[in-house]
Amino acid sequence: IPPISDLGDATPMMAQYLAIKRAHPDCLLFYRMGDFYELFFDDAVKASAALDIALTKRGKHAGEDIAMCGVPVRAYEAYLAKLVRSGFKVAIGEQMEDPAEAKKRGSKSVVARDVVRVITAGTLTEDTLLDARSHNYLAAVAEAQGTLGLAWVDVSTGDFAMQAIAPKTLAAALARLSPGELLVPDRLLGNADFTDVWAEWKSVLSPLPTARFDSENSRRRLEALYGVGALDGFGAFTRSELAAGGALVDYVELTQKGKLPRLSSPKRLAEGAVMEIDAATRRNLELAETLSGERRGSLLATIDRTVTGAGARLLAAQLAAPLTDPPAIEWRLDMVGFFVEHEGVRAQLRETLKRCPDVERALSRLSLGRGGPRDLANVRDALAEIPALRMLVTQPQLDTPPGINQCARDLGEHSALVDRLTRALSPDLPLNARDGGFIAPGYHEGLDELKSLKTESKGALMRLQVRYAEETGVAALKISHNNIIGYHIEVSSKQADKLGEGYIHRQTMATTARYTTTELIELAGRITGAADRALALEMELLAELIGEVTASAPGIALAASALAGLDCAAALGEMASTARWSRPRIDGGTAFDIKGGRHPVVEAALEAAQSGPFVANDCDLADTQRLWLVTGPNMAGKSTFLRQNAVIAILAQMGSFVPAESVHMGVVDRLFSRVGAADDLARGRSTFMVEMVETAAILNQAGPRALVILDEIGRGTATFDGLSIAWAVVEHLHEVNCCRALFATHYHELTRLTSRLSALSCHMMRVKEWQGDVVFLHEVGAGAADRSYGIHVARLAGLPPAVLTRAEEVLGTLEKSDQASGIARLADDLPLFAALARPRPAPAALPQSSPVEEALKAVNPDDLTARQALDLLYEMKRLL
Ligand code: ADP
Repeated sequence: IPPISDLGDATPMMAQYLAIKRAHPDCLLFYRMGDFYELFFDDAVKASAALDIALTKRGKHAGEDIAMCGVPVRAYEAYLAKLVRSGFKVAIGEQMEDPAEAKKRGSKSVVARDVVRVITAGTLTEDTLLDARSHNYLAAVAEAQGTLGLAWVDVSTGDFAMQAIAPKTLAAALARLSPGELLVPDRLLGNADFTDVWAEWKSVLSPLPTARFDSENSRRRLEALYGVGALDGFGAFTRSELAAGGALVDYVELTQKGKLPRLSSPKRLAEGAVMEIDAATRRNLELAETLSGERRGSLLATIDRTVTGAGARLLAAQLAAPLTDPPAIEWRLDMVGFFVEHEGVRAQLRETLKRCPDVERALSRLSLGRGGPRDLANVRDALAEIPALRMLVTQPQLDTPPGINQCARDLGEHSALVDRLTRALSPDLPLNARDGGFIAPGYHEGLDELKSLKTESKGALMRLQVRYAEETGVAALKISHNNIIGYHIEVSSKQADKLGEGYIHRQTMATTARYTTTELIELAGRITGAADRALALEMELLAELIGEVTASAPGIALAASALAGLDCAAALGEMASTARWSRPRIDGGTAFDIKGGRHPVVEAALEAAQSGPFVANDCDLADTQRLWLVTGPNMAGKSTFLRQNAVIAILAQMGSFVPAESVHMGVVDRLFSRVGAADDLARGRSTFMVEMVETAAILNQAGPRALVILDEIGRGTATFDGLSIAWAVVEHLHEVNCCRALFATHYHELTRLTSRLSALSCHMMRVKEWQGDVVFLHEVGAGAADRSYGIHVARLAGLPPAVLTRAEEVLGTLEKSDQASGIARLADDLPLFAALARPRPAPAALPQSSPVEEALKAVNPDDLTARQALDLLYEMKRLL
């Protein structure tokens, strides 16, 4: 981009463009020109590459060609989605006046333009740009008085909350929210303590000047927003929370050019209210997406039985943030239990909910002035189901739990609004309000009159055409309409001279001629006048209806969240009933007693593949055996067992039933898991380094209420290194962290630690040897595995038989002696595969015939007996 101060010989339009661009240097500027949004200079280069559209040029600036590309206004959302997903921000520069107005000011004057909105990944509201089933959070981190605050908002639904966090837990909190955009003050961005955190969220970072995160300004900003003298009514917010919250609201207002969506009253997430799960653990357990980044195959996708977008978003949020307060968990479990017990109610409720559109998002668009008739219809259709829903869940013979009663109350009473919207809106609604026709007949008398005037005049046009055809004797005379000359009379050129006086010539085309008459001009005026007035009136009525909806926004938002709550609880009830899940018992102790636990995702996969039933397993981490060492060969089911126990803890604390016969557990405050990682090449770390970084985090942070899952620590390095590290980690977990933990390992030597560590308990994945083969039972039993069966797995994988035989020999030697002398002896062994060694190919020479060919040449088949022939065949086979 040329230096913006240097306007040089810029045309007036280019000068205007550069002025707007200067105000939005970090955005791609969509500059409206008629039916297109055009991009210039560097913006055009970047956008054309990202969108794969043609890069052209338009005029020159300071002697250089100006690069340009453009997208049609009619289809711009798809382009916008692509750009925003690629990490761009886009400023929409609209024409603020009719081009005709500009012309009136003089031929050189430019149409007034201004940015009406800045679109960023965290501030989207359009359904086309959003995933209906996930939240899209805009988050902000701030620092005040040495403490951190986190605030987040979903602009598309108005959800707004803040949380004070310890620096160590910032990464986990962000992993929970998985924000679409993250605002960070410059100063914090330079803080070396958080380098790793920013690296993790690099693609969504929006750095802002530190001054924008001033806690005093923020407090005033929020007080003004909610019209209160003090925010204490909403919670006791810290200064850093307020700083983050205020910066967030400012940013939303800035991107929406002064308009704010409806924001719920700010919620405060108390410290320790949710189970902390860091990003690595979320990934390892494949909570919201699989290791390969897909939603399919994740825990969330497997358990999601919701039927509405809002319900799906709530379920995802609950899964991301399991609770730690037993009464709060019971509250949710009661709701789920109700739907497990009352299958008929559940089925009817879910049928009804399926008809409920996404009110939250419609409401947010309406309150931002970006909503249309279809958003009103969404509000109407969802609210219309409320009486039926309430009746369903509050039938007197049912023992309705408090959570559901609360939802029933929150649904509220909206019949007047529903009635109004039902009467007002046509059955067929245009996508765009500007197309008109969305107000139903019979709703507004004035509008009906204008519309009948329109239809009447159309009849009059027909009659006029018939009369003109008769008068002139031109049967083919037609009255037509186009956007350039409006209504006109059309006849073929040959018949033009048949038209008498009074026909005013307008246009001659190749084969036709166009005329008008004063009568037609007057009639056309009446028609377009009526249409214009009808549309203006419709827009007025629309604004009135939107005003009515936004006036009851708090009640509608409450109803929307109640709908989501019912959907989510009923979905978990559906899951529990169909998959035989049970209600967990949760308290403040440190029990962890799972009977017959299963991994829901592996179980579902086995079911889908019809490959045998999932084997349920117990896990009891009572105080006397809180650290389990799990040994067993590869493929025996160690990882599955480890993960399933973590997954059950998460499900239980999110308030769901669990895939187990019974569960009794004390609340887990932090969950850690380290399960075979992949190289983190992006950060230049080897597998082993990643493993050690994650292990360090666990050993440094896990307290007595934590649950730790460690799989195969030390595998990434040499045997003795690995064993020593694993050994020390087990001791540390046992003596220092004192938490409940599952430790899977292939180092059988570790089982010797049981003699010294009282709460260490050995378990193994059972296998059965059968006719020289090994069968995995997937069963967890007491004791330690005595063999690793690695060679067996190698056989399953198809290693050549000779390699397998040799490996068994080596293993035998190593097992009989101590390792060092065994290896020395092996090294002195004969060349290992002498018998198999293939002769090196002879240097290229004359083609030689093979021994088999030689043997064949020497025989006369007619001389051979059957017996000799067979012998010869054996002989030749040996020669091969
Ligand atoms: P390991 O960690 O010991 O190498 P995994 O946990 O990855 O083994 O399990 C290997 C495979 O065994 C899984 O993909 C699954 O198909 C099967 N499996 C594991 N646990 C069970 C179980 N409890 N019941 C049935 N099949 C299981």
